[in-house]
Amino acid sequence: MSRRAPVRRRRCPSIAWKGLDAMRAKTRLNCPCGAHVAGVDEDDLVIRAQEHLRESHPGMEYSRDEILFISY
Ligand SMILES: [Zn+2]
Repeated sequence: MSRRAPVRRRRCPSIAWKGLDAMRAKTRLNCPCGAHVAGVDEDDLVIRAQEHLRESHPGMEYSRDEILFISY
């Protein structure tokens, strides 16, 4: 029989912060055409979204701000 000993689990602050940061970053968007675009970070998402627009929606152009506005 042993009493429950307090277990210390230290969480690394930098990992916690990184997770928070990743949650805030917008890395996905659903195009109105139904296509799903995802990137590893916001910059990557913008590039992929613009590639998708060029391939699937010639003539449509969105700025980085506009892409991030509709992403999540
Ligand atoms: Zn599309």
